Amino acid sequence: MITQSNVPHQDEAILEALSTDTSFEDIFYEGSSQEYLKAMSLASQSVVNFLHDNKKPFSGVTAAQLRPQFESVDLTTPLPDYESLMSEVESLYTKHAVTFHHPKYVAHLNCPVVIPAIAAEVLISAINSSLDTWDQSAGGTLIEQKMIEWTCDEIGFDKNADGVFTSGGSQSNMMGLLLARDHYSIEHLKHNIKQNGLPPEASRFRIFVSEAGHFSIQKNASILGLGEKAVVKIKADRTFRMNTVLLEDAIQRELKQGNIPIAVVATAGTTDFGNLDPLEAIGHIAAKYKLWYHVDAAYGCGLLLSSKHRYLLNGIELANSVTADYHKAFFQPVSSSAFLVNHKRYFGLITHYADYLNPKDQHSDEIPNQVNKSIQTTRRFDALKLWFTLRMMGKEKLGGYIEKIIETAENVAHIISTDRDFDLLNYSDLSALVFRYNPSGLHTANLTQMNQYIKAQLLKHGDALVAGTKVHGEFYLKFTLLNPLTTTDHIKNILLNIKKHGNEFIKFN
Ligand SMILES: *Cc1c(COP(=O)(O)O)cnc(C)c1O
Repeated sequence: MITQSNVPHQDEAILEALSTDTSFEDIFYEGSSQEYLKAMSLASQSVVNFLHDNKKPFSGVTAAQLRPQFESVDLTTPLPDYESLMSEVESLYTKHAVTFHHPKYVAHLNCPVVIPAIAAEVLISAINSSLDTWDQSAGGTLIEQKMIEWTCDEIGFDKNADGVFTSGGSQSNMMGLLLARDHYSIEHLKHNIKQNGLPPEASRFRIFVSEAGHFSIQKNASILGLGEKAVVKIKADRTFRMNTVLLEDAIQRELKQGNIPIAVVATAGTTDFGNLDPLEAIGHIAAKYKLWYHVDAAYGCGLLLSSKHRYLLNGIELANSVTADYHKAFFQPVSSSAFLVNHKRYFGLITHYADYLNPKDQHSDEIPNQVNKSIQTTRRFDALKLWFTLRMMGKEKLGGYIEKIIETAENVAHIISTDRDFDLLNYSDLSALVFRYNPSGLHTANLTQMNQYIKAQLLKHGDALVAGTKVHGEFYLKFTLLNPLTTTDHIKNILLNIKKHGNEFIKFN
């Protein structure tokens, strides 16, 4: 007879029967724990091989060289074991992957990652909680909320603040502009965009950002139906920070033309120069004109960790919303980013109640559903990485890494600026330096071509990776220093390499 009490026995019996059947061994469940451990151990070994075998930032492989190998992969025939799989992926990917942890990888905003965060990834992907609703994550939701609260405290927001993890800075910036747009429309036009779509006035909405701000501001304005034309770029001063006099001029000019300023975006750490716009002054201007104030601290949020440099973020607490990319400046694996607001009620602008997920009649603080604050539904538990990191390392140790990086950047700026063969374009609040090779006594109209050649050669040889960017129409090289292991000696070595390739160019042109 089946009674309540022997149901568990029955479960066990079913499981036991399953465990002798190997056709389910690839599914992650109680009966496959040995298979799981074996796969994880081989995968970790493959990562360790990656560390030991890749001695340079990049192998220099081209897509044309790698593509034929992909053509010979027959996806209809699975491989016999994990060993074969690892070796296939090693030749297709790992062997040639760019090594962000290498001290001479100084190209884009990719930090080396810390081990606690990588360990957290093991739990994140296996347990696979989805952070949209409490009934898919339970404690995971509270961990995310605590990480958000911690970040809001560090920003200087009060207890009304709130936020949510996102896929990255681009998405966080989109949420900032989305709330700015919908908030303006409700408050000033009594028009609910969520319900009714854009009002006719939306074609005149204007958003102000420094010309050195991130391109996602324009891209998001276009996605949000405002058009790239809605973004008014404010000239930066000689230090690549937003010029606030010009900001106010621009707001007044747009008003005079009958346009509708709705938001100002300050960049706390520009992607190219690592400089922070004057956050406090911009905050006051935003308040004066009643504009939504969004601070894009995708890069600069790392300063929250350093008591020595935290003052650079003064004024961030005036923001209505903030973007913070932990995967840029907190040594976290991709993806890990947050969108924070100074008042949780703003999230009401985007909340949608779905009967199957977060029904309105069950809305209560007792059942925290993060989906109410997100534009994603199913969502990774990235917050656990930050939790592991803070609990294992603490803020001070992370802050020490940020300080080391900034100190190296200062030393490198000094080295470049005192070398007559280089033009240094900026000093950085953070750790991005824009410069070019311009050997003294050489008069060439080909500075741009020469520096492009240098960058291409570095990529081809792979001994050091640097980035490039255009400033006032001319090409420059860029160091983005995000690795505390990078020393000035590493950089001196890269500079010698740059000169070598530059001199090759001169010789053959
Ligand atoms: C990188 C960056 C972004 C975009 O962030 P993703 O995480 O790459 O989407 C936005 N703003 C600034 C200033 C950035 O440097």
